[in-house]
Amino acid sequence: MNSEEFKQFGKAMIDYIATYLDNIRNRDVIPSVEPGYMTKLVPEEAPTKGENWRAIMTDLEKVIMPGITHWHSPYFHAYFPTANSYPAIVGELLSAGIGCVGFSWFSSPACTELEMLVMNWLAKLLGLPDCFLNKSGSSGGGTIQGSASETTFICLIAARDRTIKRIKQKFPHMTESDIRGRLVAYTSDQANSSVEKAGLIAAIPMKHLPSNEYGKLTAETLLEAVEKDESNGMFPCYVVATLGSTGTCAFDKLEEIGPICKKEGVWLHIDAAYAGTAFVCPEYRHLMKGIEFADSFNFNPHKWMLVNSDCSAMWLKESQPLIDAFKVERIYLRHKYEGLVPDYRHWQISLGRRFRALKVWFTLRIYGTDGIRNHIRHQASLAKYFEYVLKKDHRFDVPLSNMGLVLFNLRAGDNSTQKLLNLLTERKKLYLIPCHFMGKLVVRFVVCSRFTTAADIEFSLREIIAVANKLLLPTQE
Ligand code: PLP
Repeated sequence: MNSEEFKQFGKAMIDYIATYLDNIRNRDVIPSVEPGYMTKLVPEEAPTKGENWRAIMTDLEKVIMPGITHWHSPYFHAYFPTANSYPAIVGELLSAGIGCVGFSWFSSPACTELEMLVMNWLAKLLGLPDCFLNKSGSSGGGTIQGSASETTFICLIAARDRTIKRIKQKFPHMTESDIRGRLVAYTSDQANSSVEKAGLIAAIPMKHLPSNEYGKLTAETLLEAVEKDESNGMFPCYVVATLGSTGTCAFDKLEEIGPICKKEGVWLHIDAAYAGTAFVCPEYRHLMKGIEFADSFNFNPHKWMLVNSDCSAMWLKESQPLIDAFKVERIYLRHKYEGLVPDYRHWQISLGRRFRALKVWFTLRIYGTDGIRNHIRHQASLAKYFEYVLKKDHRFDVPLSNMGLVLFNLRAGDNSTQKLLNLLTERKKLYLIPCHFMGKLVVRFVVCSRFTTAADIEFSLREIIAVANKLLLPTQE
């Protein structure tokens, strides 16, 4: 493909994407295909002779779209938002076009410097303490990672090594492997699955402590677990507190958990993957009270901040434990400015890194901080509208509504709620998922798409109520 054909192909694809997104409401949000559908549509071998790009364009509707769950449809209410915006898409395009690998400052200075800059923009936008900013003389700083999962894992490794050093100083007779065998980490039973995975990969027991009736991890529960483990000769090293849990958007009590971690020398990591974006609005910042106790903080602009995946923002109060844990040197990676600027390969698992800061930069510039705040407030207000209308129907209960998430169920009981969800899923017009809240089965309704309007919420309400009518008329439980 030469540059002329690239321009044609690229322009055709931009047109296709814009048309797809403009008309996304016309498609069922859930696809109708069965597993293996694609094997009938795509040859088993790669073509021997190169094809024309137009053949690929033709296959998009035939091969790809039938198997797409439309995450950006206004009728997608499952999980949490996955971000998508035009400036971020263009940022991805430029990143691919430049195609640099920013493992060190020298390997592409703009890649590191723009990342330092946008991470500071984001930190200030969220109201994070100054100690997290990238600035000379500061021991803290932030980078973009691929996912919240990676962040939870790498901070666990940094916490592990910091704890081993601390324990070794206290008990010089202990070997590193003795200490490693006694490390223990904590989170709540509401933490995302990725937290459990971090413990599995690091081979450190990750204890899932019981949350209270509101899904929050409390200081008493944590303290009891830490004291019990310490009295059994274990070394607590890491606590993951969640600000905005995946199931119910619950917020752990940082201002109570934080002092315990500080006193015990335990690394406190904050997982704010979804809800972190809400802190751009000052009215939500009370939910991160106690943030000054955090050793690391993470949120995903690729969830609610309109920056396409992958983009997970991570800040550290002290970057050195992470750098110590991840530093591996080779002569071919060295450069003469080492030590003056960060080399982000020491802050992550992989050596190579993409130029992800471009899409953050474009998004923040095109929307402005006001635009991002408006987006959050608009989506939260649509969730409130959904709650308000649904509550008028006496057959429904709305046990919780938080930011863009509303939990609802049928008063008729768990069986009916499950049937409602099954039927809605079969109809493919809405995508919703369940969770448990206060011992009951509930349906999670999340305002996910940036295209969602009040009319879309009304469409979703009509669909839910129509299915409830169908279900509840013949047999009331
Ligand atoms: N933490 C929370 C609270 C989440 O809700 C999620 C995903 O929904 C994750 C972590 C995992 O995020 P990622 O896919 O970026 O690893």
